[in-house]
Amino acid sequence: MRLAVLKERRAGETRVAATPETVKKLKSIGLDVTVEQGAGLASGFPDAEYAAAGAELAPDAAAALAGANIVFAVRAPEAPLPRGAMLIATLGADADATRRYAEAGVEAASMELLPRITRAQSMDVLSSQANLAGYRAVIEGAAAFDRGFPMLMTAAGTVPAANVFVMGAGVAGLQAIATARRLGGRVSATDVRPAAKEEIKSLGASFVGYEDEESRQAQTAGGYAKQLSAEFYAKQAEVVAAHIAKQDVVICTALVQGRKAPILVTKAMVASMKPGSVIVDIASDAGGNCEETRPGEMHVTENGVKVLGWTNWPARIPAAASALYARNLLTFLSTFWDKEAKAPKLPPEDEIVQGVTLTRGGAVVHKNFA
Ligand code: NAD
Repeated sequence: MRLAVLKERRAGETRVAATPETVKKLKSIGLDVTVEQGAGLASGFPDAEYAAAGAELAPDAAAALAGANIVFAVRAPEAPLPRGAMLIATLGADADATRRYAEAGVEAASMELLPRITRAQSMDVLSSQANLAGYRAVIEGAAAFDRGFPMLMTAAGTVPAANVFVMGAGVAGLQAIATARRLGGRVSATDVRPAAKEEIKSLGASFVGYEDEESRQAQTAGGYAKQLSAEFYAKQAEVVAAHIAKQDVVICTALVQGRKAPILVTKAMVASMKPGSVIVDIASDAGGNCEETRPGEMHVTENGVKVLGWTNWPARIPAAASALYARNLLTFLSTFWDKEAKAPKLPPEDEIVQGVTLTRGGAVVHKNFA
């Protein structure tokens, strides 16, 4: 059984799907591993370290894929895969792409579709990557902010603590709260799911938000926020508007699964902020939570507010993001590994397998696309 690790080719994608550490473990369960040359360079893992871990190096994607039974990637590979190969990545596939995998005889598993259940936590790429994105957002927000986060009492006078407001308190938002608190910021946060309120408070931040009957039902069975009514969003905006005007740094992380990110910071709210304030929008891959966000860019508004709208935030902390992503994939494969046959064994009735499997035996099997 041969596993191939490809070099990522999308602009700005600095991560890699296996590290020298996970290659060693993949070898130990009985796999031969081929790594495309340069695959780990952007995350700080040189070819020599993969070779030392027991991988064979291939000069290009085609050579890496030759004879591969399993392919690990971060994003959907462009190169054609051998028929029958199992592809494990965050594919972000739509119905057309899924059909093409089936036609090409690729057994595609898309890790971002993993169910949010306890047993799947150690394979949960969305959580591992969101956690780091939340951390990185605060670090970049602090670097862009022209004052400090902590209150500084010096002989020359006092610098006040920064007011930091975190919008969306899921995995990324909770890490953002913890990071901003560690830096000494005065932190508040908002969310619509009732459970998030307690989590915000338990991290020492204050809760700012609007709650009603609708928000008490705002969480889906899968743990995600629901799309709420226009009336709810208007009331939420009213509460948030007064608060945002007093904030120095706003970290936006709110998402509604499968939809465009909700707009929570309007142009008028940005206009109410002080010059030098910073908005960091890590929801920008889904369009952003701020009306002023330009996905993929940083810009300064007319009133002097910096809006950091970079996309793919985990790729901005690539060594750590790759290390966790690679372990998520390793855990997935070793959980569904037949030790005797030294081959993957994905029981079709397993909840995790059903969650991620797009195609099997040339057919589309995922409930979202079948
Ligand atoms: P997410 O990335 O989909 O969304 C981020 C946050 O934005 C969520 O907390 C959501 O409630 C919030 N949000 C959406 N609309 C909003 C609005 N209008 N205003 C303010 N906030 C808004 O969510 P996530 O971080 O992936 O996780 C969501 C939940 O799933 C969390 O409770 C998390 O603990 C849980 N979870 C469970 C597991 C597991 O059990 N294996 C794994 C990961 C996450």
